[in-house]
Order: sequence, then structure tokens, then C-alpha cells
Amino acid sequence: MSENHYEDVCYMCHRNEENAGKMFHLPNGVCICDDCMKKTMDAMSKFGFGAMPELSHDELQEMFDRAPAYGMPMPDGASMSAPVKTEPALPDDPEKKKEEGTEKKGPFFGNGLPNISFLNMADIQGMMGGPKVKKRKPGEEKVPIIDIRDIPQPHKLKEMLDEYVVGQEHAKKVISVAVYNHYKRIAAECMKEEDFDERLQKVEIEKSNMLMIGPTGCGKTYLVKTLAKLLDVPLAIADATSLTEAGYIGDDIESVVSKLLAAADNDVDRAESGIIFIDEIDKIAKKKNTNSRDVSGESVQQGMLKLLEGADVEVPVGANSKNAMVPLTTINTRNILFICGGAFPDLDEIIKQRLRKQTSIGFNAELKDVLDKRKDILNEVTVEDVKKYGMIPEFVGRMPIIFAMQGLTEEMLVAILTEPKNAIIKQYQKLLSLDEVDLHFTKEALLEVAKKAMEKDTGARALRSIIEELMLDIMYEIPKDENIGRVTITEDYILGKGGPVIELRDK
Ligand code: ADP
Repeated sequence: MSENHYEDVCYMCHRNEENAGKMFHLPNGVCICDDCMKKTMDAMSKFGFGAMPELSHDELQEMFDRAPAYGMPMPDGASMSAPVKTEPALPDDPEKKKEEGTEKKGPFFGNGLPNISFLNMADIQGMMGGPKVKKRKPGEEKVPIIDIRDIPQPHKLKEMLDEYVVGQEHAKKVISVAVYNHYKRIAAECMKEEDFDERLQKVEIEKSNMLMIGPTGCGKTYLVKTLAKLLDVPLAIADATSLTEAGYIGDDIESVVSKLLAAADNDVDRAESGIIFIDEIDKIAKKKNTNSRDVSGESVQQGMLKLLEGADVEVPVGANSKNAMVPLTTINTRNILFICGGAFPDLDEIIKQRLRKQTSIGFNAELKDVLDKRKDILNEVTVEDVKKYGMIPEFVGRMPIIFAMQGLTEEMLVAILTEPKNAIIKQYQKLLSLDEVDLHFTKEALLEVAKKAMEKDTGARALRSIIEELMLDIMYEIPKDENIGRVTITEDYILGKGGPVIELRDK
């Protein structure tokens, strides 16, 4: 293993140095183990180029070190590179060699090898990309990626989230506690049992995987992204709709783990304590009334079980799919926090049905009215409802924390436009401030934008496109005139009834 802790892995058989022995180091970080190199040389001899002379590992390595970046020269000018080399082979002069005492046996040297080449190392290196995995040495102590003293307490975490995510108070609270517990759990695993009270030794803290339910555009992905950024932990976001059972068209389930490894810059320890967010999880609910094999629904849930629980997964390094050309590494998912999110349309009906059944029969009609009016009905969600929706019990069982997010109201949309640290209007204000122009939106204008966004029914996602369309003309026209000092966007401008109010700079 080299000094930087990156493990050398043979690019051909994918074994590491520990298992495969000393490696040959080729240009661009490509490593090949002794066995594979031998096999390659043997294969070459079958092409009619004769046997490779007996050289020691170090002698061969020295030869590679002398190789130019493009291609791998063989002794005495023979080359493994440049597939279209057309120069006629210059026969070596054996007499001269004899005189010089440099004659070597074997057809690789001297007349035996025509000076053509058939293997372009540069192609192979490009293909392999040369990513390296950072792994702990055997016996080296595992260090948690967040020190126990540095994990922000739930209230601090929520305060940090408040700066970015509008509303969703309950969700922010739940997620802050769950994440705090999760990283404490990892820290506890790295501690010795003796550090704990005798009563608590051997107590295993369970993982706090989460299931987030909320309509599209209410900030599920945004919440998780913000959290990962604040904690500086790697995050992989996957879409459950693209996942299929291994062997079928689509991404296999383990590909989400390789995404996480990439997000952690191939650092296995960081990846093993990262977060995986799987969106659109409701789309892998059991299909009702189907006779065919449900490769993208129930089977995906089945396939995810071992990942959620904690398993060793072999993932390709630096690529999305396993193939002969990419090295593999093992990731344990025990400490990876899985957060699943989905809109679960019609889940509210299932909840209402259950609530109606629970109450006495006589009040049914009245109760239906009350329940229909309730906007926060999703907050009543239970494991039973999610199972009824089509998630298998084993899957839900591995998601101990289930919570709902609110659909966004007009007021929340207005707040999203203006309040978060990175609010879209603040971004435009910053851009125009560089032209020394003050940008202002009236309250009514903001409300009108929110109303337009509500009509699109895609939550806060619609805000960006509306504002972008609206601001195009302003961003185009304003810099033309240096006298403009202030622009006010009014309700009329949003409704297309008038232009923005332009104020000139005081001279
Ligand atoms: P989904 O719930 O479908 O995953 P997203 O998280 O992708 O929705 O939200 C889309 C965008 O809307 C985010 O990138 C973010 O800018 C904005 N957004 C949504 N909800 C909120 C919120 N509660 N607070 C601040 N911004 C939000």
C-alpha cells in the first residue's frame, strides 16, 4: 500500500496487494499483479512473438519505468503500443550485438520480433481511468467521520436547517434527532465497551433509517441535501423508479452504494458513514393485480432489505456498472443512513379509511366531513397504512422512523422566495447589485408569484421557472442603462398588465 493509504488494486483481476502480492506500477496509476502480468506475457508469446525472457519483478518494473507515457516499449525497441505502427521492422544486427555483448536470448530480442505493436496501453489506461480506493489498513482503528463532540445537537441542527428550509417544523425536528442519534451510534461503535456503564455494555443501538412522505416539491430532497452539506457527509441521491432487480434492464440496487462511494471520493470509510436518499420510493410499491414478475416493484423492495439492514456489497470503483475492466471494492452498509422519500398519492385515503373504521359507526358521515377537511391528515400515517399502500412489511420494518411533510401553502412559497439563505430572490438581488441596481419585489407581487406556482401543482419547484421567466427581460434591459438605480417588481408586472417600476440613480 502506498503512503497515501490508497490501496493498489490489480486492474485485471481486481485483487488487492495483500492478496495478489507485489504489483507492477504502470503509467497513469495502473497496477497489474505478478500473476496477471505473467498471463499477459504468456498470451503474447502465443501470438507468435516468442517467449518473454526470464526477468525478475524488479527488472520488469524498471523496464516499465523507462516506458514513455504512450505505449509500453519492450526491450530493444519492441513495443506493445501503437496499433497501427507501419514502420518496417529494423532487423537487429546479431553480429553487432555479439560484439557489444548485449545479445539476449528469446525472439523478443533481435530478429524474432517484428516491430509492430498490438496493445495500446494509453487506451487501457483511459478506459480504466485509474481511480483508487482509500481504505483503512487491516488492524487500523476506525475513526468516526464526525467526532462525537462535533455532532451538532438536535436543536442546533434544526436551527441550522431553519436557515435554509422553510416550514416543515415537524420533519426538521424528526430528522435532526434521527441524524444526531445515527452519528452518535457510529461514534459509540468506535468506542470501547468499557467506556460505558456495565448495564449498557453490549447494547446495540439500531439504525434510524427514515421514510419521508410528502407531496412533490415540498422539500424532501432539499432537506436531505442541506443536512448532508451542513454535516459534511457524503450523500447519494437515487431514484427508485430506475432501480430493477439485478439482471434486468435498469440500475441494479447496489448501484446506489457505488454512487455513494463516488460522492465520498472513493474513500471507503466516509462512504460507509454516508447518507443514501432514495426518492420516489412509493413507485416501488407492490403492484396490485399483477400476474407477471414485478421486477421494478416488490422485487426491488426485497433486494433493498439487506442493504437497509447492513451488508457487504461489492461495488465498482469509478464506474456505475460492474465489468471486467473496473476494480471492485467492498462497502459495508451497516452505518449508512438510508432515507427514503415519496409522494405516496392516495395514502391520505387509506389513512382516512382507517380513522373512520376506528371511530364508532353512527358518526360516519360527520366524521368523513371532518377528515376530508383536515389538511394535515398525512401526519397520522402509521406503518399499517404504508403496508396497505404496497410496501412489504420487511421493508417498512427496516424504516423505524416514518414522518410526513406538509404540502406548501402560498405563504410558505412566499417565504421560500425570500427567506432562506440562498433564496432565489436574494440571488437575483446579488446579481443586480453588481450592476449597482437595487431589486425589490412588492408583497403583492410575491403573493402573485406564489399563486402562479400553486396552480402548477409541483410545489416550490415551479417558483424557479416562474421567476426566471419573469426576470429575463429585466436582466437583459437593466444593464443597458447606467442611470437605473432601483427596480421594483409589482403585481401588475407579474400579471402582464404593466412594467416594473424603474427609479433612476441620484446624480
Ligand atoms: P421534493 O419534495 O419533490 O424532493 P425538492 O426538495 O426537490 O422537492 O424541492 C425542489 C426545490 O424547491 C428545492 O431545490 C428547493 O429550492 C425548493 N424548496 C422546496 N421546499 C422547500 C422548503 N421547505 N424550503 C425552502 N426551499 C424549498
